[in-house]
Amino acid sequence: MNKAFVKEPDTSEANCPRCQSLGIAVGPVTLESHLDHETLKQVAEHAFFCPLATCEVAYFDEFERVVLCESLRKPVYPKDPTAPMCACFGLTREDVQCDLDDGTPTRIRELLVKAKSPDAHCQSKSPTGQSCIAEVQRYYLRLLSQRSSK
Ligand SMILES: [Zn+2]
Ligand SMILES: [Zn+2]
Repeated sequence: MNKAFVKEPDTSEANCPRCQSLGIAVGPVTLESHLDHETLKQVAEHAFFCPLATCEVAYFDEFERVVLCESLRKPVYPKDPTAPMCACFGLTREDVQCDLDDGTPTRIRELLVKAKSPDAHCQSKSPTGQSCIAEVQRYYLRLLSQRSSK
């Protein structure tokens, strides 16, 4: 391959020092909303969220400094499965289950509409800084396939 087309080493990738999961890059906007002033100083401005539900590390940086889930201002999904999956609008796993019981994803559809509105603040409210929709949809589809295989 021509060297000119090889990208610079990507610093936006790092693995959690505890569980080795691939972290999700987050910026200061996300960190500031989830960490208090003191805790904020413990990690770099650009850090990573550990997506493994059972891992006690919430954020870590390239220098392997970590912020544990217990230091977060509020419990976050998926570290706490009862926390809202979408922190902007408060949709929880239970809501997704209700949608399945109903047979129509009313709540999820509503969320899809709201997620495109200016009221969506995933960048700060979601612990990953990304839209919560993908996770909600993935969870719905997973439950759906579990139920239909019964
Ligand atoms: Zn981890
Ligand atoms: Zn959201």
